[in-house]
Amino acid sequence: MTVTGEFARLQRRLGGDKVLLRPAECSSYRYDAIQFGTRPLAVVLPETVEDVVEAVRAARAAGVPVVGRGAASGLSGGAAPAQPSLVVSFTRMTSLRILPQRREAVAQAGVVTLAVSEAARPYGLMYPPDPASLRTSTIGGNLGENAGGPLCFKYGVTGDYVKALQMVDAEGEIHHLSRGAYDLAGLLIGSEGTLGLITEATLRLVPPAQHTLTLQASFGSVEACAAAVSAAISAGAVPAKLEFMDAACIGAVEDYLNLGLPRHAAALLLVDSDGDDPAQVEAELAVVEAAFRAAGGEVRRARNPQEAAALWQARRSVSPALGRIRPARMNEDIAVPRSQLAQVVAEIQAVAAPYGFPLVQFGHIGDGNLHPNILFDPRQDDPAQVHELAHRIAQVALRHGGVLSGEHGIGSMKRAFMAEAVDPSTAAAYWAVKDALDPAGRLNPAKLLPPRAARPVRGEEPHVGA
Ligand SMILES: Cc1cc2nc3c(=O)[nH]c(=O)nc-3n(C[C@H](O)[C@H](O)[C@H](O)COP(=O)(O)OP(=O)(O)OC[C@H]3O[C@@H](n4cnc5c(N)ncnc54)[C@H](O)[C@@H]3O)c2cc1C
Repeated sequence: MTVTGEFARLQRRLGGDKVLLRPAECSSYRYDAIQFGTRPLAVVLPETVEDVVEAVRAARAAGVPVVGRGAASGLSGGAAPAQPSLVVSFTRMTSLRILPQRREAVAQAGVVTLAVSEAARPYGLMYPPDPASLRTSTIGGNLGENAGGPLCFKYGVTGDYVKALQMVDAEGEIHHLSRGAYDLAGLLIGSEGTLGLITEATLRLVPPAQHTLTLQASFGSVEACAAAVSAAISAGAVPAKLEFMDAACIGAVEDYLNLGLPRHAAALLLVDSDGDDPAQVEAELAVVEAAFRAAGGEVRRARNPQEAAALWQARRSVSPALGRIRPARMNEDIAVPRSQLAQVVAEIQAVAAPYGFPLVQFGHIGDGNLHPNILFDPRQDDPAQVHELAHRIAQVALRHGGVLSGEHGIGSMKRAFMAEAVDPSTAAAYWAVKDALDPAGRLNPAKLLPPRAARPVRGEEPHVGA
């Protein structure tokens, strides 16, 4: 049967409203937050795991790739098809159950991240992973990218909260994966839809901390700021949030909101300490404050929740503030050892200067996760120059013992840099895993894995991946 015939048959089986075939409708599913991909051949909007099975089997029969898609808020091109594909969009799979006695949530892939904590709140529980996109991103997409956020320094990333997964493999078989032997659930986490489609997750919930204290500190140099963070952590502090903004970022937010941020500062830190015992929270923040002052920081403590919210407004306003400077931005995402942070920030500024794009740096400094943002105007600026600079920023991270991505994933955006980031034997191990779970290379091809020159001989199946 032809590809068109196969998907028309799928539409008849699942129902017209679950399968989109018209090019105009499919066009809306070709992008994520950063990349335009190839227009899908068809889009499936499954409501059950059985619908996903049908979709994967139809794609297999048609011999075309399958691309999983959540809210398409990804920042590395993961959900944007690299080839004409069947897109499986999970936004209708939104069933969510809270099991308070077990402190678990059972969420279908399309559940919006924030909805988990909102549903858990009446039971005195929360779900800590907090990407800034949590009002739109889905659990499936968070699992695909192993998403993080400000709380992740203390509480861990998405994968740390997964107890079990349900997934549909490349053949259309359903699996129930636990964290036990072989930790196949762990293998799926962060695999960007290249090893299977996650249909449901059992997530661990925790009671929220009862007390939180907040401070802001500014520093005359990024070196002093990085030294202050290391000193606080060495002294035993594990703040719930530890966010960094560089001078350009402080200036952008101040221009936007006039919050009274210290424009003279080279770096700003925002810190939350939390816990159930107010004395312990106070003691931890005192450790942080002492370390920051010793490193030359000017410290401002919030005296109440309103003041804390006002301090955090600076960090929350970064995105709109940057949007006023240029209409578009390439949000880079690297992670480096904290000891290298000051050098990395300075080197990125130096590397970026000749390109002339405004560059702003901020991030989750506790994890060494830095987001250098290249601001540009697509109507005037050359996208090739933006990508070249993004590549050079990635190279700075690698030179300093860092990695290509802290939380946004590799996708198609950084795939070309992977050969510089992983040695050939590690790349071969990645491909061996991919070949074992997706021998025909049909799941989200041309993403994450570095391109390979020659494919090992493995059976006769056609290989649609790159
Ligand atoms: C303003 C903004 C702020 C952001 N802040 C953060 C942040 O603080 N931290 C952070 O980590 N990220 C952040 N992101 C990036 C993005 O929101 C995350 O990567 C998020 O996890 C993507 O979720 P999604 O549902 O949009 O997934 P999508 O973008 O739709 O997909 C992401 C990847 O997961 C795969 N996928 C989707 N669903 C499934 C599934 N069911 N099974 C298997 N694979 C699947 C896709 O194929 C793709 O490779 C931000 C993005 C924006 C736009």
